[in-house]
Amino acid sequence: MLKIAAHLLVIVILTVLTQLGGVLYLLIYFISGKLKLYLWKRMLLFLGAYLLFATVIIPHLAPVFGRKPLPLSGNLSPVSYLTCLLNRHYVSPELYDVLVDMSANYHEEYGVSVNYLDANFPFFNGFPLMPHLSHNDGKKVDLAFSYNDAAGQMTEEVPSWIGYGIYDEPKVGEVDFPGICAEKGYWQYGLLKWIIPIIEDYVVDAGRTSWIVTEIAQYDEVSKIFIEPHLKERWGFASNDKVRFHSCRAVRHDDHIHLQIK
Ligand SMILES: [Zn+2]
Repeated sequence: MLKIAAHLLVIVILTVLTQLGGVLYLLIYFISGKLKLYLWKRMLLFLGAYLLFATVIIPHLAPVFGRKPLPLSGNLSPVSYLTCLLNRHYVSPELYDVLVDMSANYHEEYGVSVNYLDANFPFFNGFPLMPHLSHNDGKKVDLAFSYNDAAGQMTEEVPSWIGYGIYDEPKVGEVDFPGICAEKGYWQYGLLKWIIPIIEDYVVDAGRTSWIVTEIAQYDEVSKIFIEPHLKERWGFASNDKVRFHSCRAVRHDDHIHLQIK
């Protein structure tokens, strides 16, 4: 019983993290059971099969399901390759085109790349990419802010290993939704602050980050952009209808930009 529960737990975790990992685990479990393989051989077989699917098969299969993998390098790159290894970098062709176009313009302007965070899984509409419930149809993506290092120089790096969780806090006198949401009991709103350590002392480059927001808002396909209300005010987007507040049920957006297309 305990063994079955452990296998089920692994399947659930792999499915939540990678979408396909759980099914692949189950498949390898049955195949290696028939072949009577030792545990270490089963694990090796699973790892090999997973890598083959994540790096070769799924990127070729995803277009059948209306998704494309985002680029791995160049003007548009992941903050962490783990995002891609976990199949969390898939978007619709329309969103792909917006991001590639915008990041090419950004690179031309600043000479550095745009970093993306979580996007969507490769298969099926309605399958959420936890913990982002809305990232379930290929039409949503999170982008990292742009940062300067301690010496004030541009960097393509981000201050935490996942790109989330290092907040550009409200200043005195600014609207404070992290405080308002916490008071209303939305404990998840600023949760990452307590989990994600700062690995580099980088400062948000407001000019370059708001350039990204301004640019993506200009695409007809883009319907909504979420940043925290105090940054919306501070960066001059108060009258931009596409830049919105996402409600206390989401998480803070003063560490990344969320954008979605129609
Ligand atoms: Zn998002």
